[in-house]
Amino acid sequence: MNAFSYRDGLLHADDVDLATLAREVGTPFYCYSATALEERYLRLAEITAPSGTGIAFAVKANSNLAVIALLGRLGAGADVVSEGELRRALAAGVPADRILFSGVGKSVGELSFAIEQGIHQINVESETEFDRILELADQARTTVRIALRINPDVSAGGHDKISTGRKTDKFGIEADHAIALYQGASEHAYVEPVGLAMHIGSQIQKVAAFEAAFDRIAEIADDVKALGLSVPRLDLGGGLGVAYHDEEQELPLAHYGELLQSLAKRTGAHLMIEPGRWLVAGAGVLVTEVNAIKQAGERRFAIVDAAMNDLIRPTLYDAHHPVWPVREMADVPRHPTTVAGPVCESGDILAVDAPLPDLSAGDLVTIGHAGAYGAVMASGYNGRLLVPEVMVRGDDFAIVRRRPSHDEAMALDSIPDLETKASAA
Ligand SMILES: *Cc1c(COP(=O)(O)O)cnc(C)c1O
Repeated sequence: MNAFSYRDGLLHADDVDLATLAREVGTPFYCYSATALEERYLRLAEITAPSGTGIAFAVKANSNLAVIALLGRLGAGADVVSEGELRRALAAGVPADRILFSGVGKSVGELSFAIEQGIHQINVESETEFDRILELADQARTTVRIALRINPDVSAGGHDKISTGRKTDKFGIEADHAIALYQGASEHAYVEPVGLAMHIGSQIQKVAAFEAAFDRIAEIADDVKALGLSVPRLDLGGGLGVAYHDEEQELPLAHYGELLQSLAKRTGAHLMIEPGRWLVAGAGVLVTEVNAIKQAGERRFAIVDAAMNDLIRPTLYDAHHPVWPVREMADVPRHPTTVAGPVCESGDILAVDAPLPDLSAGDLVTIGHAGAYGAVMASGYNGRLLVPEVMVRGDDFAIVRRRPSHDEAMALDSIPDLETKASAA
């Protein structure tokens, strides 16, 4: 089932038509389908069940409390990369013992908070961080479970900016070094090394990259075990790719599931994965209204009221998102139309040469597959307000993040009297 489909001439999210929703909420806004989120999670859970693999939702893909809570209720844990995300996961009802803390530069404050909460595991990404955790664990006198994030030195084949598992990327620790730290931790009173972790990148479409990385982590686990230490957990990261283009392939899930099974068998470890994008990308859209149509040389532009500050993926990663008009225009001619926002940047483009029918100001269009790395990456650039987020289930909907007022957006700023003080002196 597709959560976003045309019915009675209008694009619907579940059973709610997006034109009605746009009138209720105002554009632009993100819309998530609870049904689609649930379906995605359950499909993945089915694939991971035979290997006993746990799923921790990578909160950075979509940190709306409603999304985290929905996945948490279905049994997902959370993979967080900051104190803010950790607090969000807790506030959404994910139990602390299902939360993993990843991230390449955790501060002392963030580590202390995670230790205080007694989370499932902290994934250690550098020796500096390792030393800090040892110190904090001593001070707190509580057991802190850590995994060492290794750099498997594989190239995942995605966009350069989302590749994380190559030797020269900033993530993870080289294997030999990680093994030495693992041994060091095992001699520590309060730090318990429970396993190894990795995350090789994002939007990975070929199983071969995972296969190589799983082999690598199994080898390293063997090396650790050869020292007489146990490796009860392996955290395999996220990165499961989705299809943004019609002609693109999703990661072949059944094959991925088989890899998990053989890894579980080979290592005897409890496995964990941290998918973000795969769970939420297709479950969300960004709905926007056309402000103006213009021709610039050969190029036809639809200027819409959403912009790069609302959805930065096309600008940042040259990412492709499909564009679907809300009003069904099935049998009309289409022309390549570039969908751009009103922000004062030439890079403020949401879709290049999207095949679209003739649009006019006031028409609504939808940017598809926007549920991951969309709202979470939004900013207030150009004095624009963060866009609201709506969740639909069946014929019902709820605003799960409201649009702030301009006063609220300005409320954290203040005008100091530094100059008057200076001139009085
Ligand atoms: C970003 C990230 C993820 C999620 O990646 P997706 O491609 O969204 O699945 C998982 N784990 C870690 C450590 C990450 O940094």
